Amino acid sequence: MVRRFVREEIVPLEADLDPDADELPAEESARLVALTKEMGLYGLDTPPEYGGPDIDVVTRTLIALEATQHRAGLYVPCYGVFGGARQAQMFEATDAQKDKYLYPMLRGELKTFFGLSEPSGGSDPARAIQTRAVREGDEWVINGSKLWISGADRADYGLVFARTGGPGRSGVTCFIVETAWEGFKVARVVHTLRSAKYATEIHLDNLRVPHENILGQEGGGFAIANDRLSRQRIPYAAECVGVAIKAHEMAVEYAPMRETFGAPLSSRQGIQWMLVENEIDIRAARLLIFDAASKADRGEPFRTESAIAKLVASENSFKVVDRSMQIHGGL
Ligand SMILES: Cc1cc2nc3c(=O)[nH]c(=O)nc-3n(C[C@H](O)[C@H](O)[C@H](O)COP(=O)(O)OP(=O)(O)OC[C@H]3O[C@@H](n4cnc5c(N)ncnc54)[C@H](O)[C@@H]3O)c2cc1C
Repeated sequence: MVRRFVREEIVPLEADLDPDADELPAEESARLVALTKEMGLYGLDTPPEYGGPDIDVVTRTLIALEATQHRAGLYVPCYGVFGGARQAQMFEATDAQKDKYLYPMLRGELKTFFGLSEPSGGSDPARAIQTRAVREGDEWVINGSKLWISGADRADYGLVFARTGGPGRSGVTCFIVETAWEGFKVARVVHTLRSAKYATEIHLDNLRVPHENILGQEGGGFAIANDRLSRQRIPYAAECVGVAIKAHEMAVEYAPMRETFGAPLSSRQGIQWMLVENEIDIRAARLLIFDAASKADRGEPFRTESAIAKLVASENSFKVVDRSMQIHGGL
């Protein structure tokens, strides 16, 4: 169902879109959202009690494998028409926070960002976070900066992780921050290898945040951040492999069509080896992803499995895409 949707609805639209587009025209988007709702799949990663589809992790993984098989698929699978909970940790919000921030986000009315990484480093945020929040009465005053934050320039609010205590995990608190507040500034767009869905640098200059905008517990921010990162590893891994599957499919189609030195590329053993390696890399990654997904569905620990799956999926997919590009030459 999702495969047909991608091939019949998404791929044809891309012919008329800017190659770097990461959004559909509003009327197309609304039409396709209506279709995903009809399919019963709107609201991916949103728990059923909040209106999301009642699907298990294996099914979510299958959707991710298919929904990425188009030009912008890696960063905006199906241009977001399957909806979804961008900030999964908002389900841990208070009722008042949910009314103000979560439900409008789920309805697609508010956009969000996730502000964890800083110029001081992203791999080890528990130690690296230098942004500091100091309490003044019923407010917190935040100063610092965040780097590589996706979509902050288009967001209405976001989660900002700041140090409220000493070094380490227990000193980090998560705040819900509105981008229109004084003291919040998107300093610049940060261009990375990806052109669509670019990242940003944020400066927080005496940003005043009400105490009730703490998400979870004071000092509990790192657990919230970590939870999000673990949960998302499985669909992220599957999205990488979806892109690899498409690239490999294109290479398999192209190799017999292109002739060099009097014979099709596909007749050369060097090219055949590349295609075989592609197939092996894709299958190995897919098996690891389904291992993690099925453990998650059975309620077994899956943190290590999801980390391994994400590592292998991203590295294997990179190799598959690279080989597939080489087979296409200068195309
Ligand atoms: C396109 C893009 C979008 C992003 N969006 C967001 C976002 O929305 N929100 C957000 O918070 N962050 C975001 N990030 C930041 C991302 O999470 C960080 O870049 C990532 O965590 C790595 O941090 P770093 O770049 O500081 O690298 P570092 O932490 O400085 O690491 C540098 C290198 O050293 C390696 N390394 C680290 N520690 C060790 C070790 N102990 N031993 C050996 N090697 C090590 C790393 O693997 C890496 O290769 C985004 C990044 C990119 C590129």
